[in-house]
Amino acid sequence: MRSLTPEAGAAQSPALAGPAPIGIEAEPLSAREVLARAVAEHHPHMALACSFQKEEAVLVHMLLELVPDARVFTIDTGVLFPETYATWRELEQRTGVRVEVIDALSPDGRPWSADRCCGERKVAALERMLAGLDAWVTGVRREQSSTRATTPKLGWDSGRGLWKVSPLADWTEDQVWDYLEEHDLPYNPLHDRGYASIGCAPCTLPGSGREGRWAGQGKTECGLHVG
Ligand code: SF4
Repeated sequence: MRSLTPEAGAAQSPALAGPAPIGIEAEPLSAREVLARAVAEHHPHMALACSFQKEEAVLVHMLLELVPDARVFTIDTGVLFPETYATWRELEQRTGVRVEVIDALSPDGRPWSADRCCGERKVAALERMLAGLDAWVTGVRREQSSTRATTPKLGWDSGRGLWKVSPLADWTEDQVWDYLEEHDLPYNPLHDRGYASIGCAPCTLPGSGREGRWAGQGKTECGLHVG
């Protein structure tokens, strides 16, 4: 995982008929190997986006083993579930991580819409955080939804101009649970109540995959992982 420019990365696989996808060399690597190489290249200019779902507990644990001062941030919209805030506190206490908080304030008094709210809260906050980084790490997994099915382990986030690292891209749900159990890590109790994916309280219902997010609104992504 060298700090390749997109053009340099495209020239790495002459055996292929066309340009190799950026970051293709990371695909055979394990999650820990992907993270280790990303840390070697980009720490401290790299941070994990954490929403206190089970995948991020795995990644916090792996990252801290690699580098004790790994950077982890969360976007606090102010309307997260009480269980999420409790998981946040527990994860900090149990692992020693100190989570950087990006405030995502409520939009003004204009009529509410999911797209505007996510854009003005989550996406704008993410852009502020990423502006100072060379790479960001996410807990995205391919099996979570059709919109995530082609997520690379290492990709160039061209819209934001930095590397996007998704070490768990090829992990199954069972692999995540096995890791949490093996290392006795805390996780959001809402997962045990049927919430496979957990976002803001007003916009999340129980459901598998990401079907509980903005249920009934024809919306599946907030915009953090689009583009
Ligand atoms: S998930 Fe819902 S409450 Fe949270 S930022 Fe998006 S629209 Fe707003």
